[in-house]
Amino acid sequence: MTKFISVPSRTKEILDQYGIRAKKGYGQNFLVDPVIVEKCAQMSHPEGAVIEIGPGIGSLTEQLARYARFVCAYEIDERLIPVLKDVLSAYDNIEVIHKDFLTEDLDAKAAELKKQYGTVSVCANLPYYITSQILFRIFECQDISCITVMVQKEVGERFAAKPGSAEYSALSCEGQYLYDVKKLFTVPGRSFNPSPNVDSVIIQFVRRDTEETPEEIRSFFALVRGCFKQRRKTIYNNLKEYLQDAEKASEALQKAGIDPSRRAQEMTTDEIRKIFEVLK
Ligand code: SAM
Repeated sequence: MTKFISVPSRTKEILDQYGIRAKKGYGQNFLVDPVIVEKCAQMSHPEGAVIEIGPGIGSLTEQLARYARFVCAYEIDERLIPVLKDVLSAYDNIEVIHKDFLTEDLDAKAAELKKQYGTVSVCANLPYYITSQILFRIFECQDISCITVMVQKEVGERFAAKPGSAEYSALSCEGQYLYDVKKLFTVPGRSFNPSPNVDSVIIQFVRRDTEETPEEIRSFFALVRGCFKQRRKTIYNNLKEYLQDAEKASEALQKAGIDPSRRAQEMTTDEIRKIFEVLK
């Protein structure tokens, strides 16, 4: 019987057979821990369709295909496309798309998958060099109800961070505004090939119900990013730059009851939301 791709000896066999060496520039660390890979797939709410970013040589994709009705996987590295086609040939519910995920029309794709399969989740071992960009992109997409991602431990900690702590950032603020955020488990560096120097964590985001339109969420997030742009600057200075208007910035803060000398890092999501409401 063929071993799962995530079994270390099978991963090595595939890498050797196709002459693949992990590309650092694409953030490639392949998961070689069958228990973690299967658990991650099982816990990702795979009832309907699952979107994966960066299938690599298919270890997580294989497990997702066992649990989900359909898997749509985006891979940027063209060397891996024929490998994925071969190693996943036993499954007929996987679509591999050779594309930079950040250039995809995610709203259209997620809407199409939701119509066909009922629910859409994301499950991925994210490339570390664009973790935040990918997550921001997914956060904006209303049809994705659950996101289960493996990220570097320190990034994971930023999601769970509370206002006032050094790790609190635009990412924490946005994540906690839209989702219930939960750390599922820690993944040691030795579970990857090649092994990174740092541990990773699996974080899950379950979307809260919201009446807001995608446009509203997008413009609120643009404001959040503006407020956090220069962490050491005051909310007033960041807002002034974001609005390109000193008077408007000072008026908005006054109406929202926010002290202009504070920093976004110390403010709750609700306080930033107040500024947004005033500006609307
Ligand atoms: N899922 C595999 C695993 O767990 O073994 C590989 C995970 S590896 C950390 C990240 C993967 O993302 C790599 O396969 C890499 O080529 C791919 N990747 C990097 N940037 C990407 C992008 N912009 N769009 C799609 N895939 C990308």
